[in-house]
Parts: sequence; C-alpha cells; structure tokens
Amino acid sequence: MNNPIISVVVPVYNEEEVIHESYARLKDVLERLQESYELIFVNDGSRDRTAEIICDICADDPTVRLIDFARNFGHQTAITAGMDYAKGDAVIVIDADLQDPPEVMPEMIAKWREGFDVVYGQRAKREGESLFKRFTSAVFYRLLQKLTDIHIPVDTGDFRLIDRKVCDALKSVKERNRYVRGIISWLGFKQVGVEFVREKRFAGETKYPLKKMLRFAFDAITSFSYKPLKLATYVGIIVSLSGFAYMLNVIYLKLFTNATITGWASMMSVTLFFNGVVLMMLGIIGEYIGRIYDEAKGRPLYVVREEVNFARAGWRKPVAVQANPTPYSLAA
Ligand code: UDP
Ligand code: MG
Repeated sequence: MNNPIISVVVPVYNEEEVIHESYARLKDVLERLQESYELIFVNDGSRDRTAEIICDICADDPTVRLIDFARNFGHQTAITAGMDYAKGDAVIVIDADLQDPPEVMPEMIAKWREGFDVVYGQRAKREGESLFKRFTSAVFYRLLQKLTDIHIPVDTGDFRLIDRKVCDALKSVKERNRYVRGIISWLGFKQVGVEFVREKRFAGETKYPLKKMLRFAFDAITSFSYKPLKLATYVGIIVSLSGFAYMLNVIYLKLFTNATITGWASMMSVTLFFNGVVLMMLGIIGEYIGRIYDEAKGRPLYVVREEVNFARAGWRKPVAVQANPTPYSLAA
C-alpha cells in the first residue's frame, strides 16, 4: 500500500445521522482532487450505530479506514489518534457534522502546495449556532489570547491542514488534556488561514454540552498559561493592603473618637466573601495539580478496540452497546 498524499481525519461521536452525508460530501471533494487520499474516521466510543455504518462503508471503499476507540476519550484525543495513524503528506482534520464545509479543502491544499505548513480554517461567520455558544466562544478565544503568550488565532477550530513535518512534531508532544490547535500554534511553522462560513449542523445535536465546553476551556487555559495561579498573589496583595488601611482606620477611631464599632452583618459578608475567594484559589491550584497527576500516571492517551482497513486483516465489527454505559467520569 503506497502512502497517500492527503489524509483526512474525521472524529465521530454518536453521528449515525450524518455519517452517510458526510462521507458522500467528503468523497465528492476528494475524488475531484486527483491526489491519492485516505479517509480516517475515529469513532470516539459512540453508543449508536456510527461504527457499524462506517464498517459497512469500509467494506466497499478501501480508501476509508476506521479507528474504533474502546470508549469515549474525547474529541481532542480522537483527533490525536487520527494524526497518529495518518500516512499522508498532508493531514486535514474536519468535523463530521458538515459544519466545516469539505469544499474548503481544495483551497487548503492549494495553500499547502504554495509552501505553507499549517492552513487553518478561520470562521468568518457562524450560522445556526445559538447566541450563547457564539458569545461564550467569542469570549473564550479572546480571554485565551490575553492569558497566553503564544499567538493562537481567534475563531479557529480544529478544521485545518497540517504538513507531515507538523504532524510528526505534534506526535512528539505527549501531553494529556490536549488542546490540539494550541499545540499546533505553539509549534510554529509557516501558518496561514483561509476564511469560511461555519454552517449549521447537518443533523443531530452538538456533542459539546456545557460541561465538556468548560472542561475544554480549562484544558486550553491550563495547558498554555499559568497566569490564573498568579491571580492568588495579586488578590492577596490587594486584600492585605486594604485590610491594613482599614486597620489604621479602626485604631484611629478607637484612640481619637468615641465611635463604637458595630457590625455583625458586615463582618459576616466580608468573611464569606473572602472564604469564597480562598476556596476559588484552591480550586484553581487543584486544576493544575489534577493535570500534573494525569501526566504522572503516564497512561496511554487512548485505547483502540479495532482498526479497520489499516494493514491488519481479520477485524471484528463493532456493535452499538447502549446498555453498557461509558464511565463518564473517566471520559472527556
Ligand atoms: N466529537 C468526538 N468526541 C466527543 C465529542 C465530539 O469525537 O466527545 C466529534 C463530533 O462527532 C464532531 C466533532 O467532534 O465530529 C465536533 O463536535 P460537535 O460538532 O458536537 O461540536 P460543536 O461543533 O458543536 O462545537
Ligand atoms: Mg459541530
């Protein structure tokens, strides 16, 4: 099997409603490229028929491959696995739900041919996403920009093309709780953006509920910045300075006036407020320690149950198992 020129990596999680359409649109674009290609689906522990459907496609189309995870390891891990398995000279990561239009891929490839190593899709417009999602995402990307020293382009997702050199460099970055697009920015290389309109999801619901979004945001910030840790220092300095000023005031009142100092209510609110601040700071420290703990355990990033249409023959078809729930506390 000769190595293909283009590898397309598609992470999928409970996408049975969109797989056929996705495959058709991707195939259509890839066929017109006149380059050799492979289409790698990474099934991230779906509980519906996603994996079965992809297996059926694999049986008819040898350019389609499937990496079937043993459970849900999360979107960023699925992308990483796809890149680990990809053989192409250029690797394109694209969502399965057709929010990233496959028709942008030829433009990315053209830029790559011009000599750029990373071509990222930049969302000029987002359609069909809730106001809440657009707002939180806009705030998040700008906050991240402020907090980190590396330049991570705003409003870019994981829809991008990377050169083989970048893919190999990425493989050498072993950190867990990955924020892939951040790592790619951190790597450097010659990067360029192409604009596109982010479309509506073709079918189904977003697989990023608020909980996963928050976790994702925490991963992004903690992987690229320790500024949140400094917050404790700054808040501490401000609080002790104002405490000291207030103490001078109290001494003055006691020595030079007859004012009696009252105030159970104010005492309570100040105590509660600052206990809250202290606990929040502990929480932030905890986030970092948790991530150090994850690194220290050194477990593999993901576990693969089956590989289909890669070199090995004799694979077993996955089944949809609804009754055996994924240990969600372990997921994401
Ligand atoms: N996805 C995944 N694992 C997850 C969640 C999502 O592989 O745990 C995939 C999903 O199937 C889709 C892509 O990641 O192809 C982006 O997810 P989604 O479209 O739900 O996110 P959104 O576009 O709403 O941010
Ligand atoms: Mg989507």
